[in-house]
Amino acid sequence: MNIVYLNGEYLPADQAQISVFDRGFLFGDSVYEVIPFYQGVGFRLTEHLARLEYSLRALQIQTVQDWEAILNLLVSQNGGGNLSVYLQVTRGAADSRSHRYGDDLSPTVFACCTPIKDIYTAGPDDIVPMKVIVTADLRWHRCDVKSTCLLPNIMVVHQAQAQDADEALMMRDGKLTEGSSCNVFIVQQGVIYTPKRGSEILGGTTRELIMQLADEHAIPLQEVDIDYEMLKAADEVWISSSTRGVVPVIEIDGDQVGDGEKGPLWLAMFELFIRYQQKLMTGE
Ligand code: PLP
Repeated sequence: MNIVYLNGEYLPADQAQISVFDRGFLFGDSVYEVIPFYQGVGFRLTEHLARLEYSLRALQIQTVQDWEAILNLLVSQNGGGNLSVYLQVTRGAADSRSHRYGDDLSPTVFACCTPIKDIYTAGPDDIVPMKVIVTADLRWHRCDVKSTCLLPNIMVVHQAQAQDADEALMMRDGKLTEGSSCNVFIVQQGVIYTPKRGSEILGGTTRELIMQLADEHAIPLQEVDIDYEMLKAADEVWISSSTRGVVPVIEIDGDQVGDGEKGPLWLAMFELFIRYQQKLMTGE
């Protein structure tokens, strides 16, 4: 079963149609969210929807929707369970292609689901560590907006793939920003460091949760500028995202990170993260 949501309707994916003049298609004039649902329940749904509203406001795309109701019904129409929900809102379709737009457009709202693994039942041995490359951040200066203009992200992850790596971490003006679809943390002598929040990175919902868990458990964490030398000298490096959780990096540009194993602070954070998820799912 593959039911999608499009502008008020729930219908099979192969019956969903949008205009060729949709500005999301022509210009990438749109924003999106990717939200995991476990056992049919949205994980950090409030945070994802707050970020969606932030992105919509930043691009002045105006629409009033009951996002929670739309997504919950979509998930149940797809059988519930463990699903990653993709939600995209474009500025809408005009009559012809023009960079300019009027205020009469009606935003296009599209959502679909794909099955995901239930990471909340995973153990640390189930997590496959990653190899990454480091490359230039080619993106615009509003990376805090979750826009669908993802060409630079696609180019760098393709570069990683060509070098037999899983992810690309990006540097701008000598500073680490984030991965193609994840945030980054490093550990040095028991302290967690992560790039500062601002317009050069996306405020990741998983990043926020890691910061909250570190704070609650008195694990030192600082938002700082990280240069290439600091990254390469780290004892541990992790990435975070909604669908991957928190994952250790064991190789950067062909060189081993620390001792080349999953690190002890990663293990501690992973366990806090899993416990947080289990508590949400079971209420215990
Ligand atoms: N940074 C970028 C560029 C991303 O695309 C993503 C997720 O897709 C993230 C960070 C992580 O955000 P979240 O933890 O909310 O999934």
